[in-house]
Amino acid sequence: MNLVIFGPPGAGKGTQSSFITKKFKLYQLSTGELLREEIKNKTELGLRISSIINSGDLVSDKIVSELIEKFISKKEFKNRIIFDGYPRNLAQAKNLNNLLTKNDQKIDMVLKLSVSLETIKKRISERKNLEKRKDDSEEIAIKRYDTYEKNSKPVLEFYKHSGLLKVVNGEASITEINSEISALIEAI
Ligand code: AMP
Repeated sequence: MNLVIFGPPGAGKGTQSSFITKKFKLYQLSTGELLREEIKNKTELGLRISSIINSGDLVSDKIVSELIEKFISKKEFKNRIIFDGYPRNLAQAKNLNNLLTKNDQKIDMVLKLSVSLETIKKRISERKNLEKRKDDSEEIAIKRYDTYEKNSKPVLEFYKHSGLLKVVNGEASITEINSEISALIEAI
């Protein structure tokens, strides 16, 4: 089973992904985490992308595609991936389908967490006290939300059309969201 968790930055994709990962023995593939690792390790790629990430823009499709292909092609992750933060635009959604097909796999479900900008702003200001992420200022949070709004519609249409889309209310409590997602996965 491969899943995509979709939603604006700050919707709780990471939190829900780590819960699903444990419960259903999947592997969480967070493109944001992979990119932040590159920056932390000061790799050549990391140095190239740090200003893009800190401004709230998207890194190029090619860079992210190379990162995810490494995982998709590994036997140990076959049919056990939850994509967190990928795809983020229509080109990426199509690319993901191609990469999966090439590796004899597919997406089984796309979970969309719906959350308003107001809620995200509130969460970001709370998170700031816990873990300082450079791209977590309110201004950047709004920029990242705008980037999401601009790119998300065609992605959602694409998955709706293929019958894979399930929308979950991301404003509910973490436990409520956990149960709703579990029920959806168990029904696959
Ligand atoms: P995230 O942790 O998923 O919120 O990602 C943090 C940042 O990494 C984003 O604001 C983008 O700059 C970059 N990023 C993560 N995933 C992608 C992706 N699929 N395509 C392009 N950029 C990405």
